[in-house]
Amino acid sequence: MAGTPMLRFVTVGRETPEKRPARLRAADFHEIYRDYAAAKAAEQAARCSQCGVPFCQVHCPLHNNIPDWLKLTAEGRLREAYELAQATNTFPEICGRICPQDRLCEGNCVIERAGHGTVTIGAIERYLTDLAWTEGWVAPIRPAAAAAARPESVGIIGAGPAGLAAADRLCRAGVKVTVYDRHDRPGGLMTYGIPGFKLDKGVVMQRIDQLEAGGVALVRNCDVGRDLSFAAVRGRHDAVLIASGVYRPRELRAPGVGARGIVRALDYLVAASRKGFGDAVPEFDAGTLDAAGRRVVVIGGGDTAMDCLRTAVRQGARRVRCLYRRDRANMPGSEREVANAEEEGVEFVWLAAPRGFAGDPVTGVMVQRMRLGEPDVSGRRSPALIEGADYVEEADLVITALGFDPEDLHLRWQEPDLALTRWGTVRADFHSHATSLPGVYAAGDIVRGASLVVWAIRDGREAADAILAYLAQPAALAAE
Ligand SMILES: Cc1cc2nc3c(=O)[nH]c(=O)nc-3n(C[C@H](O)[C@H](O)[C@H](O)COP(=O)(O)OP(=O)(O)OC[C@H]3O[C@@H](n4cnc5c(N)ncnc54)[C@H](O)[C@@H]3O)c2cc1C
Ligand code: SF4
Repeated sequence: MAGTPMLRFVTVGRETPEKRPARLRAADFHEIYRDYAAAKAAEQAARCSQCGVPFCQVHCPLHNNIPDWLKLTAEGRLREAYELAQATNTFPEICGRICPQDRLCEGNCVIERAGHGTVTIGAIERYLTDLAWTEGWVAPIRPAAAAAARPESVGIIGAGPAGLAAADRLCRAGVKVTVYDRHDRPGGLMTYGIPGFKLDKGVVMQRIDQLEAGGVALVRNCDVGRDLSFAAVRGRHDAVLIASGVYRPRELRAPGVGARGIVRALDYLVAASRKGFGDAVPEFDAGTLDAAGRRVVVIGGGDTAMDCLRTAVRQGARRVRCLYRRDRANMPGSEREVANAEEEGVEFVWLAAPRGFAGDPVTGVMVQRMRLGEPDVSGRRSPALIEGADYVEEADLVITALGFDPEDLHLRWQEPDLALTRWGTVRADFHSHATSLPGVYAAGDIVRGASLVVWAIRDGREAADAILAYLAQPAALAAE
């Protein structure tokens, strides 16, 4: 294609931003990837083949206009590239860092399928938005002048990506927005779940600052259901968005599970994040939630397990092992994160499940070995027990990371008319995100179950649009 810088995938190989050496990065909580230099970002963007049907865009939950902003990047029109990237994504620098691109946009890159290695879409999205912050291109939130005097107010329960993406959109439309969160810092799992070596906390906090500067009221330390009733939130606002995530850890049922030294993943990760913020964390300082010098076993194979493993390495654990009941090919965690963990010294024990725990405080995990049987209804091969192959894995800190379910919202919020699914998630319309209660919407993990930041952002944006349409109704009727 004469005159275009694109289609360079034939001559230019795939290059991700440089990864810090494993030995160095395992000693701190800083992000593991260095930044692209401008020339490298342009070169890598130019590898895009500008497909007529861009499968990357189709498989990005936000349907980001990826080929166009790659082309603008390759042409050096970086501000325009950024404007296009942010038009569909409220937090592009966050998605660029932590989306599992290998399962989303990059996993569907056509040149990858032709054996050339995917375009590094996430890294370029991150580069563009980081640059935009540095250059002052990120526009402050200023409600549109005509809308500035709008009287309506919306209450949002939960300051995670779903709630904050909705807050951003509603605030820009001139609606008064109040976000209630039970934590002292907003951000949801971006602040108190995902570790700093994947997502620098400063990156999240600069978005929080932007929202507050734009007029979003963030009410911290307010647990709806304890400090303020759900009915009171509804009474204060014209519409409400539930974006409270899923926080009930799935429990392991096995003999000895209550022993000291066996802790839950999120307790462990929250403590580590708080230490990173410089908070006093008594359970960490007393050693309960600190892996330093200990033999750590993490049980689970998802991204939460990966984050616990890599946090334990950074805290100076003596040895870090992961027990997972299926094999590498069948684990839910991102392959990229497994590889990063291995480089940092984590050992994986595949096809291994806990049968019980020895000692109190714990001294070991009784492990039963598994083999993969026939595929189940989901198509995944189910693990089956190998008789007589049990052994004891020595451990003095065991972290259980088996996933999360919703809390009992009926019990907590005393609102029996809020329809829930049989899994306890909020039942909401797929497109409008409306719940069974008039004027109440729901978005993110509390609807989907444990999912991804990018899906939460999409839900939050869509719910905000539906709320704006809902708020417009009475005004439209009055005007008739
Ligand atoms: C350890 C870990 C690692 C992850 N890594 C990744 C990753 O690498 N990439 C990725 O895309 N996704 C990742 N995820 C998933 C991702 O974090 C979630 O899907 C996403 O944060 C969901 O957003 P949300 O806004 O729905 O909920 P959350 O982020 O959970 O936010 C909900 C907010 O609601 C608040 N809240 C809850 N109940 C109440 C109440 N009653 N009153 C007031 N406030 C309340 C909570 O304090 C919280 O701040 C990870 C999750 C975990 C646990
Ligand atoms: S938001 Fe996520 S899936 Fe979409 S282009 Fe960015 S990194 Fe890829």
